[in-house]
Amino acid sequence: MQENAAKPGLVIHGGAGTIDRAKMTPEKEKAYREGLETALRAGWEILQRGGSALDATEAAVRTMEDNPMFNAGRGAVFTNAGTNELDASTMDGKTMRAGAVAGLQHVKNPILLARMLLDKSERPPHSDPPSGPVLMAGAGAETFAKANGIELVDAKYFFTQERWDSLQKIKKAEAEAAHSGKQYIISDDERHGTVGAAAVDAQGNLAASTSTGGMTNKIAGRIGDSPIIGAGTYAKNGTCAVSCTGDGEYFIRAAVAHTVSDLMEFRGMNVKQAAEEALNRAHELGGEGGLIAIDKNGDFALPFNTSGMYRGYMDANGKPVVQIYK
Ligand code: ASP
Repeated sequence: MQENAAKPGLVIHGGAGTIDRAKMTPEKEKAYREGLETALRAGWEILQRGGSALDATEAAVRTMEDNPMFNAGRGAVFTNAGTNELDASTMDGKTMRAGAVAGLQHVKNPILLARMLLDKSERPPHSDPPSGPVLMAGAGAETFAKANGIELVDAKYFFTQERWDSLQKIKKAEAEAAHSGKQYIISDDERHGTVGAAAVDAQGNLAASTSTGGMTNKIAGRIGDSPIIGAGTYAKNGTCAVSCTGDGEYFIRAAVAHTVSDLMEFRGMNVKQAAEEALNRAHELGGEGGLIAIDKNGDFALPFNTSGMYRGYMDANGKPVVQIYK
């Protein structure tokens, strides 16, 4: 590593929500903690050998996409049509390039396709078109993925019994509510989740990545904040890198990830103040959730306004620290 190198830093989340302690068995908690630690180690290993924040966040997110405990990739929740529709995005704070994908039903690791779009978006200045696509969705995105060697899987790959049972439970509650006229409440844990990572590397560059299956029983075709640059994901050298989780509609309306950056740039807030304030703006509109944000000095914030958020960071001694509850 160079002498004047920046200190790398890495933060991750595995979704925010009402995480019910009563329903959390020791085995389940252990599996979540191990999943978060695996993600931290995967990203940290890259940062330690001088790799980029962009690569580190991709690697961390990818391990959580492969882990059925998390609502992303393999463990994605079901739509109201009984399908899985996956969203992801990534952004490089150095170049301000970004890649995002939505409504995927067969891409094993959506974050890899998002990253490919980011890489392919580079064009010589003043070329025509001036940039490759930043955001692709649905069948077209999957055709593009296939043509470019990204792994596709049968939709069955995304079937997990627990997520399927959550869908049935919500559908039942919905039907009962329609009948009785009463509102129904389902724990957030059954409803959503998302995974994300934000990092600063030894060159002082920032990046963030996010991936999700969205919300259980979401109307097929619905797209949340996770693949929206500026809402669920944002990175800009000089300010911060951010990944969000929560009620996506509100995070889109409040442009939460971008707002964290703006509050630092234009209001001179530090990363903790900016993260809290941006999250509050989504909350004022009616949305709950959390976010992770890190700045170029490795200072970070992991705020949430739910009862818990699966989250973690690498401490000053390079040890993974993971937390679940408040
Ligand atoms: N933000 C995600 C979405 O709205 C869900 C979540 O993070 O829990 O799709």
